[in-house]
Amino acid sequence: MFQDLHIVDFHVHFPTSKPMLGGSYAEHGEHPRGPDKAAVIRNWAKMYNQEWRLAWDFPPPEADGRSDEEQADRWAAEVERYGLDRVVFVTGGGNDNLAAVVARHPDKFVAFAHHNLFAPDAAAELERAVTRLGFRGYKLLAPALAKPIDDKSAWPVWEVAEHYDIPVLIHFGILGGGGGVAWHENINPLRLHDVARAFPTVKFVVLHFGCGYLRETLQLCWSCANVYVDSSGSNQWVRWMPEELTTKMLFRKYLETIGPERLIFATDSSWFPRGFAVRYLQDQLRDCRELNVSHQALQAVFGGNAARLLKLEPGERR
Ligand SMILES: [Zn+2]
Repeated sequence: MFQDLHIVDFHVHFPTSKPMLGGSYAEHGEHPRGPDKAAVIRNWAKMYNQEWRLAWDFPPPEADGRSDEEQADRWAAEVERYGLDRVVFVTGGGNDNLAAVVARHPDKFVAFAHHNLFAPDAAAELERAVTRLGFRGYKLLAPALAKPIDDKSAWPVWEVAEHYDIPVLIHFGILGGGGGVAWHENINPLRLHDVARAFPTVKFVVLHFGCGYLRETLQLCWSCANVYVDSSGSNQWVRWMPEELTTKMLFRKYLETIGPERLIFATDSSWFPRGFAVRYLQDQLRDCRELNVSHQALQAVFGGNAARLLKLEPGERR
């Protein structure tokens, strides 16, 4: 399947009815003027979401109510169906909850920790996630943090990532679909500049090709060879850029600047009945084929780089 490539999906959200962010995440979401105003904004998001689903012809997410065990088995069936090497769950109702999910299908799933960077126990929690729960990375939403991401109070957390050599996935740029967050002190990926240089052996992965901050992500990559980029999602943000832009153009730009070794395929899949968003894989494979990307480079982008960062042993690949 998929031209004999070994595919790893580096960025999936486990669909659970438990809070996605786990226990002690930060404070975005609270409206300063009360729930009525928040409801107005939620309706904007609903409108944009319907528009987006129509454009991609995606089915609406089903209502919650399935158990985590059932959802884990459904995701395992997706991995089987599409012959994927692994899917990486970057959220899943808190670290302990996600650990239980992954333990159900350890040959198919990998977990990343997801907890507040500025919680007093954040470094210890990351260490626990790696050493006790077997997690292989850390995921953050920069525009949901309560402090600047380069605040030195987070250095103990980066030190844990450095010590255990785990990748750190960070969402910068516009957050959520339309109606989401477009301004925050951490919106700009260049905010990571000092951190990425202070921790030059930590692999930082900027999601969705920079999510509206293309120039800034390219400059961050230029400054810091430890910064990687993931291709995940529909990349609908390209519609909101002043210049004509497509996912294929993003691939071309990053391939000619950072090359195939720092580009990582992912889908940002989550809900059922959509399941694994195979369309992103097929569209992106076609984009890369049309750019004459070699089979070897394709293997790096669509699975090899992920396997390297996750330290998957050959025996752990399917
Ligand atoms: Zn995501």
